[in-house]
Amino acid sequence: MVGILEDKDRIFTNLYGLHDWGLEGAKQRGAWNGTKDILSFGRQWIIDNTKASGLRGRGGAGFSTGLKWSFMPKEVREGRPHYLVVNADESEPGTCKDREIMRHDPHLFLEGCLVASFAMQAQACYIYIRGEYVLERERMEAAVKQAYEAKLIGKNNIHGWPFDLYLHHGAGAYICGEETALLESLEGKKGQPRLKPPFPAGAGLYGCPTTVNNVESIAVVPTILRRGAEWFAGFGRPNNTGTKLFCISGHVEKPCNVEEAMSIPFRQLIEDHCGGIRGGWSNLKAVIPGGSSVRMIPAEACEDLFMDFDALSALKSGLGTAAVIVMDKSTDLIKAIARISYFYKHESCGQCTPCREGTGWMWRVMERMAKGEADPKEIDTLLEVTTQIEGHTICALGDAAAWPIQGLFRHFRPEVEARIAQYRSGKPFVQGHTLAAE
Ligand code: SF4
Repeated sequence: MVGILEDKDRIFTNLYGLHDWGLEGAKQRGAWNGTKDILSFGRQWIIDNTKASGLRGRGGAGFSTGLKWSFMPKEVREGRPHYLVVNADESEPGTCKDREIMRHDPHLFLEGCLVASFAMQAQACYIYIRGEYVLERERMEAAVKQAYEAKLIGKNNIHGWPFDLYLHHGAGAYICGEETALLESLEGKKGQPRLKPPFPAGAGLYGCPTTVNNVESIAVVPTILRRGAEWFAGFGRPNNTGTKLFCISGHVEKPCNVEEAMSIPFRQLIEDHCGGIRGGWSNLKAVIPGGSSVRMIPAEACEDLFMDFDALSALKSGLGTAAVIVMDKSTDLIKAIARISYFYKHESCGQCTPCREGTGWMWRVMERMAKGEADPKEIDTLLEVTTQIEGHTICALGDAAAWPIQGLFRHFRPEVEARIAQYRSGKPFVQGHTLAAE
């Protein structure tokens, strides 16, 4: 395997499950190695070094992990314990990285939970696992049991920070991946996002100070602290540092999950790890670079593209969860986006009107457009509706439903117009054959 990242710099050395996932195997690969020393440097040192590493949240938003930790109150007040909650509700279509960590490197993750909890003075951590992830939950339960038995965690653990860890299995709702919906669900209520403020650091789980982090964000922390913030910051471009798990699916020769250096050129990522685009680079049509909620980008934009937060946001797309969905010229992009629209309509929790009504409305229009059964004027109406949903809802699901449609029309509007013209001409639509192609 080539690429930018050398094997010696990989954090997840058992990503493919080729070695022992258990405690002994994990220790041999470096997990739970010098954890007590890390804690001995103190909370501020851990937070400062996490900030200095440039680690940005791996769950999609890309907010500085160390900075987020620093928002927690400095003192624990009577009756208001601090909590760490880890979001393992990995549900964004195309994303399948956290499940590999939980399956194959659970101890690295558990060690991260202890270190992060210590840094924020949390003596309890909850891991919220996606409902469909049964194997992952079982694997995590086994790893937690091992960690308790070895006194790595627990009330009287060898690290000197009393710490309990609880696993919670969700029931399969995408919206519970939104951090405040996750907290509601954890409290036993309906998984519906909360209005913010207050933010979880002020009033989170059971109204107490809470930080919610993604699995990958937490799992990389012990290695960063062992090897040094400068080591991690040495990968990628400024403000986009570290190593990152990329999940590449769709029309590549070999879809895969791989840990690579942040900012790896798109072409190198696909050539080195996926064997190239199916049918060659001239067959590439578009890429959704960060999970289904980000705007797609056309093949031309992928030529010199760096795979990082800033490069993709400059293209009005996003790195998101780094779930790269590659689409070649055989793809019916309109139908693909209609399908994504259905997903967000189905997963809307229904609290806010623009999302509850708008996602269904957008899906129905997209379904008609996929057949060409629309008026060209409806395109502008649809785009106007996306802007009325985007930014006008309680949580980001409204944005997630609007952006894929905006991405389609930003780059492929003539294709939709041609589909509509073809339908109006009375000729049935055949995939890959439109009036524009004649
Ligand atoms: Fe629920 Fe949608 Fe509003 Fe989010 S944006 S709170 S999913 S209705």
